[in-house]
Amino acid sequence: MILVSLGGCERAPTAAPSAAEEPTPSEPAATAPAPAAAEPEPAPAPESAPTPTVDPAIQAELDAVFAASPESSTSTGSPIDGDLEGAIAVPLRGPGFRFNPAKDPGSRYGTVELVQSVVRAAGVVRARLPGNDVTFGDLSRERGGVIKGHASHQAGRDVDVLFYLLDAKGEAFPAKAIPIDPAGEGTDYRDLATPDDDIPVTLDVPRTWAFVAALLSGEGGDEVQRIFVVEHVRTMLLEHARETGADAAAIERFAEITCQPGFPHDDHMHIRWFCAAGDIAAGCRDMKPIYPRQRERLAAAGVKATPAGKRQRKRPKLTTHAEARAKAGPMHESVTDFLDRRKAWIKRPHPGREYCK
Ligand SMILES: [Zn+2]
Repeated sequence: MILVSLGGCERAPTAAPSAAEEPTPSEPAATAPAPAAAEPEPAPAPESAPTPTVDPAIQAELDAVFAASPESSTSTGSPIDGDLEGAIAVPLRGPGFRFNPAKDPGSRYGTVELVQSVVRAAGVVRARLPGNDVTFGDLSRERGGVIKGHASHQAGRDVDVLFYLLDAKGEAFPAKAIPIDPAGEGTDYRDLATPDDDIPVTLDVPRTWAFVAALLSGEGGDEVQRIFVVEHVRTMLLEHARETGADAAAIERFAEITCQPGFPHDDHMHIRWFCAAGDIAAGCRDMKPIYPRQRERLAAAGVKATPAGKRQRKRPKLTTHAEARAKAGPMHESVTDFLDRRKAWIKRPHPGREYCK
């Protein structure tokens, strides 16, 4: 079966294994420290309930995530020219999340701040809106540096987060990099040559918003620098947040830091962290924009932001959409129609916002 991701994060659409090849995960016990927003006490399990199988390796990874001290990881350089020391890994699976089984597990390392924040946010969403998990894509390599298929993701401060998705019945659909159109809809085309196996999906707006809100409102939320996401998904998330009376500060932050870059980010969000104040002396460098709020935060910590200079390392070669389309082989009509329609939103827009020009 051919399954081609039609989207990318500064990267080429890549072949991914079929859903059938994904391992059946076992749910580890949720023994990670409770997320910042207190998780309600779980109802006592009936005595006959089977004990969930806990993969000891995953449980150990989860324990390690929350045992780690933020000072133990150091991000140096910039996201497009950087390295990483003392990284920790996002576990392959945990409460409310999984690492994309189609991705290389060697690319799930980040700073302690980043990994703790995303694992915590996944736990908050699971407690508030159970029933669908978030899927994390690439972070960085264990020591950082160039990572295949990405222009950035080098310094442990970037993570790709796939959108929460629902199937046609409104039930959880294990996330894949499926481009979402301005109506909030997409299709898992699987074999692009035949329509027989197509599965329609929709963006799970409430959970996707809940994840970013948990991230921005949670511990360390101030250290999130940017969220790259296609303009129409940004709009949908903001409309939902306003309609449901979400936290005004989270809405304002999200509106400020979201931007659609050259690649559309219509099948995932790319979230970037600022340098931790303690990493700046070691050579951590932020790319623009460095908001006034961040300068004040650093000044309070007695350090000054030093913006990243020009890229030193060679920019990795990234496949263009046209190349990927040519490489993908035969496509049935609704795939080509979708790709034609997609041209309307894959170009970088100029919404005129202060930090998104
Ligand atoms: Zn990315």
